[in-house]
Amino acid sequence: MKFIWREDTQNQWRQLESISMNFEEQEHITMLRQSIRRFLDQNYSREQAREQDRTMAFAREAFQKLCDLGVTGLTVPEEYGGAGVDVVAAMATIEELCKRGTGLAGPFIHCAFYGGMNLVENGSEAQKREFLPRLATGELLFAYGLSEPDVGGDLPSVKATATLKEDGKTLVLNGTKRWCTAARIADYILTLVRTGPVEEKYKNLSMVMVPASAPGITIVDIEHTGIHYAETTDVIMEDVEVSIDNVLGGPDCLNKGWPMLVGRGLDVERLETAAIGVGIATAAVEDAWQYAQERSQFGKKICGHQAVRHSLSDVKTKLQACRHMLYHAAWLADAGKDLAVESSMAKLFVGDTSVEIVLECQRIMGAYGYANEYDMERYVRDILSLPIAGGSSNMQKNNIANRLGLPQR
Ligand SMILES: Cc1cc2nc3c(=O)[nH]c(=O)nc-3n(C[C@H](O)[C@H](O)[C@H](O)COP(=O)(O)OP(=O)(O)OC[C@H]3O[C@@H](n4cnc5c(N)ncnc54)[C@H](O)[C@@H]3O)c2cc1C
Repeated sequence: MKFIWREDTQNQWRQLESISMNFEEQEHITMLRQSIRRFLDQNYSREQAREQDRTMAFAREAFQKLCDLGVTGLTVPEEYGGAGVDVVAAMATIEELCKRGTGLAGPFIHCAFYGGMNLVENGSEAQKREFLPRLATGELLFAYGLSEPDVGGDLPSVKATATLKEDGKTLVLNGTKRWCTAARIADYILTLVRTGPVEEKYKNLSMVMVPASAPGITIVDIEHTGIHYAETTDVIMEDVEVSIDNVLGGPDCLNKGWPMLVGRGLDVERLETAAIGVGIATAAVEDAWQYAQERSQFGKKICGHQAVRHSLSDVKTKLQACRHMLYHAAWLADAGKDLAVESSMAKLFVGDTSVEIVLECQRIMGAYGYANEYDMERYVRDILSLPIAGGSSNMQKNNIANRLGLPQR
């Protein structure tokens, strides 16, 4: 039950009844957006975003300044040094950052979600006390080691293993993780491994926090099309030893990793991909909208040609729908409601629709939408990853049908 406070005509504060619908952005979110835009103007220019796309070099200094705004605390409760969990605010942060590029949004997600949100949802009390204060300040980055060369959507089939040594305190990890983005700049790789026999597919799996610099780890870059905030990599683990205390949730959670991966944490995490989509698509629409008012053909601005006007109206409308899907699901998360279906719907809809939006915007810019000197071609490269990464669109459709109880036969 959520309440809002309003000033009434007598200039007195009173509590209104719980509201079931309110599309007005809360004041603190609007202020957050303004402060991120100011921050970007001062610390992370369009040119820096382009340079990072070319080099994939982590803009550590700018990221630290971003953390000083307190945004990495948006997934961490106050008792652990954060600002209190505010999923809508965290999504607005990703959206605003992605309008400039993924260069700072990526590390933000690796800190606030792969680290912060996971530990809040699944960490032991000792792990929360150890890690969350450092995540809240942006000191630590986590990478995700879920996928493998032969394992994508079917994650419970992972082949990487962790075996408990005779001392009962040390795990030994072996196997290869693929598409492990930002492993080179991360402090920990949150790794899904099999920790027992394959008796039942979803059992005997664990999530282990592996220090990225542990002996026995080799990181190999994979060339990829976009989302260049960091390299994506293979992480090869050969007899990597970590303490059993590094099992997410603590030693008692050995073999209990699967529920963590499909629990509420992942429902929220799906949204961060949708927020990336909304951010990039917004930037594409803004650029195309502007360009159409500057470019003239056949004696008038191209925004005067009906086909272009209709395209621009279409992308604005689709973007609006994407934004509603994202923030409705984020609101459910903040209200403590179940969002399993809505988060998959948001990931599916925004993932696919943001691709349509950006490709339409690229077409409006003609050849200039294909030239490296404009940001549009980067938006295209980045957006193409959305229906794939973080669970493909088909997997979201499976989730939606399954969660809504549609029989398979
Ligand atoms: C830029 C980028 C960054 C990434 N970063 C990370 C990361 O940091 N860590 C990490 O662990 N992974 C990462 N990934 C991997 C990503 O999560 C996987 O690509 C994704 O889960 C899909 O797996 P796959 O590519 O192996 O496709 P597959 O699972 O092999 O699927 C291939 C195709 O078959 C379809 N398909 C498969 N099974 C079904 C089914 N049951 N029903 C219907 N259709 C099906 C899929 O929808 C897809 O179209 C990243 C990927 C990208 C592109």
